[in-house]
Amino acid sequence: MGIAEIDLHSALKKYFGFSGFKGLQEEVIKNVVEGNNTFVIMPTGGGKSLCYQLPALIKDGTAIVVSPLIALMKNQVDAIRAVSEHDGVAHVLNSSLNKTEVKRVKDDIINGITKLLYVAPESLTKEEYVDFLKTQKISFMAVDEAHCISEWGHDFRPEYRNLRHIIKRIGDNIPIIGLTATATPKVQEDILKSLGMTDAVTFKASFNRPNLFYEVRPKTKNVDADIIRFIKQNEGKSGIVYCLSRKRVEELAQVLQVNGIKAVPYHAGLDAKTRVKHQDMFLMEDVDVVVATIAFGMGIDKPDVRFVIHHDIPKSIESYYQETGRAGRDGGEGHCLAFYAYKDIEKLEKFMSGKPVAEQEIGHALLQEVVAFAETSMSRRKFILHYFGEEFDNETGEGGDMDDNVRNPKKQVEAKNDVKI
Ligand code: ADP
Ligand code: MG
Repeated sequence: MGIAEIDLHSALKKYFGFSGFKGLQEEVIKNVVEGNNTFVIMPTGGGKSLCYQLPALIKDGTAIVVSPLIALMKNQVDAIRAVSEHDGVAHVLNSSLNKTEVKRVKDDIINGITKLLYVAPESLTKEEYVDFLKTQKISFMAVDEAHCISEWGHDFRPEYRNLRHIIKRIGDNIPIIGLTATATPKVQEDILKSLGMTDAVTFKASFNRPNLFYEVRPKTKNVDADIIRFIKQNEGKSGIVYCLSRKRVEELAQVLQVNGIKAVPYHAGLDAKTRVKHQDMFLMEDVDVVVATIAFGMGIDKPDVRFVIHHDIPKSIESYYQETGRAGRDGGEGHCLAFYAYKDIEKLEKFMSGKPVAEQEIGHALLQEVVAFAETSMSRRKFILHYFGEEFDNETGEGGDMDDNVRNPKKQVEAKNDVKI
């Protein structure tokens, strides 16, 4: 073991209390420490944050971390401060800071105290910040949730488009690390191009989640009863039911409650206090089920979610993967049950009709993949992994028999809508 490796391990222990690296973390971190452009593709929960946090802590200067979610940035900052001697080790720079607070952040950076500076992309467009940062020693730039840069991603943010330009203004040779949990080859290519780092060393972890069981059932007018039956068969287990609309969330939560299931609704239309309360009730297991829109889940880390039900089919395979991915984080069972009716696809198409044509075309293409997935008779796991550019062999691969189509192969006749991939 070389000096550098010993250092990395002791830094890991010192700052995070972990005794070993997860997956590709160590290789990634070495590459970042060396100052190379780096591209990390790991599923959610894979441990991406550490890939820039650890290098930031041990390198000279300040690392700038771009992330789209203020709440997540705050969590990370708090966690790092908790294990550091100086609160200034990590800061968030955003529009809510007053003059005194901004000055304090700047002073800590100037004095070499701040190792991690979290910024929302829209704050980075502020001239004042850019002018300041370009006079400072920046160790590297981390772009978290880098798929936000791509219109082909599930969460496109126009502000991400300018990042390359802004990074260049801050410094010509600042190494970049981009990180994402979205692995479609198209999004990947978009990220590398858009960040101007086609030379980046790419690290891609497998997206296979062997402990998840994938199932798609036809959606009929009895879908609520089907959901109730499923939940009752899984009594006492934690689960999430995703619905498309707030209204449906409210209705279904009520239907479940009436049927003796401990459930709460969650969507962005509820006031902040109620949302926090319902989230906590779920985390503390005062309720078993959260009925939610996609507003629920980002940053929620409940390891023992045993099922994720899609009352409505999601708008892309990425969304489906992200949402089902919240099941079985602890490695235990995770049943992913989606209800599918073609008319829901038409509904989703309709939602897009007001959008710019380019966006509609992308949305349509993504939806076609969802249709193919829902109607396929091939292994769901194989389908998903192929979508993410990964070969999977059901005979030898982990979790090869963990989906409805593999367990109960459909007859040829039924599979007439099958789309070959
Ligand atoms: P991602 O951003 O890829 O979704 P996170 O960075 O949020 O993942 O990490 C997921 C979880 O894994 C966190 O709870 C984190 O503390 C934990 N984790 C990360 N690296 C390690 C490690 N080397 N050993 C143990 N736990 C780790
Ligand atoms: Mg992350």
